[in-house]
Amino acid sequence: MSIFSPRRYQAPFRPMQREKSLPLRLFTGFEQTVKGALFGCRMCGNCILQETAFVCPMTCPKGLRNGLCGGASPEHCEVDPSRPCTWYKIYERAERMGRVDRLLEINAPIDGAKAGRETWLEALRTWRERGEGPHPLDFFKDRAKFDAEWEAFFRALRQPDWWQGDAAYHAPGYEEPVSQLEADLRAGGFVVTGEIAPPLGATGDIIFKKVGWLRDVVSAANFTDNASATARMNSLASSHLALEAGLEPVMQLQARDRSRVALEADALGAAGLGIRDILCLSGDHQRFGPGPVVKPDQFDMDAVQVLWMLRRMRDEGVLLDGRTIKNRPPFFLGAASSPFGAPARFEAIRVEKKVNAGAQFIQTQPIFDYGRFTEWLEALDKRNLLGKVYILAGIIPLKSARAAHFMAEEVPGVVIPPELVARMDAAGDKDGQQEEGVAIALEMIERFKATPGISGMHVMAVHWEEIVPRLVAEAGLGKREPVMEAVM
Ligand code: SF4
Repeated sequence: MSIFSPRRYQAPFRPMQREKSLPLRLFTGFEQTVKGALFGCRMCGNCILQETAFVCPMTCPKGLRNGLCGGASPEHCEVDPSRPCTWYKIYERAERMGRVDRLLEINAPIDGAKAGRETWLEALRTWRERGEGPHPLDFFKDRAKFDAEWEAFFRALRQPDWWQGDAAYHAPGYEEPVSQLEADLRAGGFVVTGEIAPPLGATGDIIFKKVGWLRDVVSAANFTDNASATARMNSLASSHLALEAGLEPVMQLQARDRSRVALEADALGAAGLGIRDILCLSGDHQRFGPGPVVKPDQFDMDAVQVLWMLRRMRDEGVLLDGRTIKNRPPFFLGAASSPFGAPARFEAIRVEKKVNAGAQFIQTQPIFDYGRFTEWLEALDKRNLLGKVYILAGIIPLKSARAAHFMAEEVPGVVIPPELVARMDAAGDKDGQQEEGVAIALEMIERFKATPGISGMHVMAVHWEEIVPRLVAEAGLGKREPVMEAVM
């Protein structure tokens, strides 16, 4: 039980190697007791409480260290409905304390060598060795100097050399577009991306069939990466098959099932296969899969951290372990956003972190409520983000009234106004419902086309991909003409 963080006991991390010194073990136990009571501290050994309004982010079941997930709601955590969302608490508290700007720093993933170990004595040792303050007497004599040295000291503690996270925007470190999608977005116009669910099987036949539907009408298509924690052919292999079949893939790379080593390796492998567009995701929690569920704490990194790591691999040629990359991977990096997951001002903070970390395009969750979508856009505009990132608004053509009810009632972060659900209900038989779903999608596309700040749309017609050419044609978007040579 804790005073500042959501109340629910979660076991603390244990050190990889047992500390030999008994006094140190006792001190670690004392620190754990105090910090556990105050913050619900799990002894991650990589404390960022000052950046999270003194609420421990490690009480989030996904262990997210850079903001809330798409399923967060004011009522409860999407993974564990018995408690509130940790990140909601962090945002609300940061607003009350005037510390919102501190939420923008890109926090490092945990250094496992520090997990489970005491931090107070470590901080004291570091302070003495640095010899640069903060000096306690300055607190009374020169408060500005004390505050600056305090900040510099804790920044050095929380931002190790191998990470060096900050709160600044880092423009891409290259000039020419690296992919068809990037070239199309730079060229202006209304860009269309699609989405294909990889097959539940070991051949590429289904991919080739769906590629045939989409190839001439989209700039690129996403290949989902074990969405909803459910295994399918992986996104890397699917993307490679699509590339061979003539469709540029957007490889989804979700953090959930991979360590930082696997993420780096998969991203390098993708670049080696000619895949340029990578959409970085945290991933749905394992609880949403069909089970059996893997062990807890399976998230080594979050989407913001993956973006930061991949951008540095591309622009600085470094891996997290400090080794340099001989041939830097030419990634065009993207991220997802959920305009309706939380209040627009909270979601905009998360988007700003993703853009600062390296996101060059954003694909949103499906939009059915245009009014609330524009609130999210205004929140992004207030943070000066619209000139830094391409926004692709999400579209799902509703295939049936049942699908509309399911999405409206069950899918976190998706809002379908009751009048649209009622239209689907009143649409008659299966064919009528499909026609109504197409009509609703076309109405939404017309609005997107007239909305400043929107660069195109991302059509998620998963398991109904054959509808995409019709949607594109009836939206007046025509056949796509490539503006760049194929990568391979
Ligand atoms: S809703 Fe998401 S961000 Fe919030 S505590 Fe749960 S898993 Fe973490």
